[in-house]
Amino acid sequence: MPDLTEKVVNLAKRRGFVFPSSEIYGGFRSTYDYGPLGVLLKRNVMDAWWRAMVQERDDIVGLDAAILMAPRVWEASGHLATFTDPLVDCRNCKERWRADQIGDACPKCGSHDLTEARPFNLMFKTHVGPVEDDAAVAYLRPETAQGIFVNFANVVQTSRKKPPFGIAQQGKSFRNEITPGNFIFRTREFEQMEMEFFVPPDQGQQWFEYWCEERLRWYTDLGMPAESLRLRHHDTEELSHYSAGTADVEFLYPWGWGELEGIANRTDYDLTQHAKFSGERLEYFDQASGERYVPHVIEPAAGVGRSMMAFLLAAYDEDEVAGEARTVLRLHHRLAPTKVAVLPLSRKDTLTPTAREVYDLLKVHFMCDYDETQSIGRRYRRQDEAGTPYCVTIDFETLDDKAVTIRDRDTLAQDRVSVDRLLEYLQERLSA
Ligand code: ATP
Repeated sequence: MPDLTEKVVNLAKRRGFVFPSSEIYGGFRSTYDYGPLGVLLKRNVMDAWWRAMVQERDDIVGLDAAILMAPRVWEASGHLATFTDPLVDCRNCKERWRADQIGDACPKCGSHDLTEARPFNLMFKTHVGPVEDDAAVAYLRPETAQGIFVNFANVVQTSRKKPPFGIAQQGKSFRNEITPGNFIFRTREFEQMEMEFFVPPDQGQQWFEYWCEERLRWYTDLGMPAESLRLRHHDTEELSHYSAGTADVEFLYPWGWGELEGIANRTDYDLTQHAKFSGERLEYFDQASGERYVPHVIEPAAGVGRSMMAFLLAAYDEDEVAGEARTVLRLHHRLAPTKVAVLPLSRKDTLTPTAREVYDLLKVHFMCDYDETQSIGRRYRRQDEAGTPYCVTIDFETLDDKAVTIRDRDTLAQDRVSVDRLLEYLQERLSA
């Protein structure tokens, strides 16, 4: 499917997953809004990550730090000096490009008349308070990680965790990307899911390998085909100066392999820098052994928009049902925005009270949709396009036999199940 991206982008717009931001004003520079289905999918991706990284582990705790931080943070982390992309201008059409993403010609007009590359800092600058002078400058965070490092001592003291242990955080980050694009793959405002795992210095390599495997498995556990994923290790030229090893989890997008997540062995770089700039001790003191050390850090850092797009691309399918073409999102049930659709066969008053009862029974357990418009066939198609795993139909027989028909999105099998057993039936299938 060469036009898969286009199909997914169209579906996302048509069904309310993703809208261009400020669309009634003509959109705004590669920013996007998540619609009724998109916000559910995005939350489900983030919840699945939180569940795997925090809930199901006793060695990782959560954090939610502010987006605005003391500007010294960005001096210490190196972002003020080095968080740059090389920028070139085309003298002919005035377009700007990332030098490392183009050859020696302007991709727009083909001109070779390009300026020398110069570093362009990707951080968004703003002013805090009523005076717009240099003392009031602050930055929107370009990653969530620094909020974790500066809270290292707070978390150690209050959680009583000791290395190896991690701190996880999700939230918005901002980068003034020179060339955003590929829909929600690269945007200027995006959501990250990052975890900093603090380990004794001699355990860095072993935990780096552990997290590479663990993070790759997270995507396959959520239904992404193994053949569309790979782990790509950076070679020495590509490594950041502080990194003792970095690997990217990459997904095979229709335009080629692209990064979903980076896993880096950041050594003791961040804590050492913040200790130096803040004057605070950022170490771990092991009372049992009397040992004091600066932990090394393994960081899996993922993007929500990128994985959302990858999950949508991987789930998109077209098949034929009873001689009619259908589009279906075969999303893992954990990610599916709506788990169950309750569909009365007709809008007749006789069916509505029972259908409403079924909806009320289920909605406290799962995200459900109630839909009584259009023909049942059209409603099934709508749910297939939204990736809803189960449709529950209430028909005229339901009034007599107190049973409903459950249709499975993928197998299309239809089961007749009594309303008494309905919840259990769905729980068995949706909680796995
Ligand atoms: P790239 O090389 O694609 O610019 P990066 O290596 O700079 O990405 P990191 O700094 O490692 O990215 O950030 C961790 C994760 O955050 C990335 O793997 C990606 O999923 C996400 N991310 C980074 N920048 C963006 C962006 N502009 N838009 C959407 N997601 C992003």
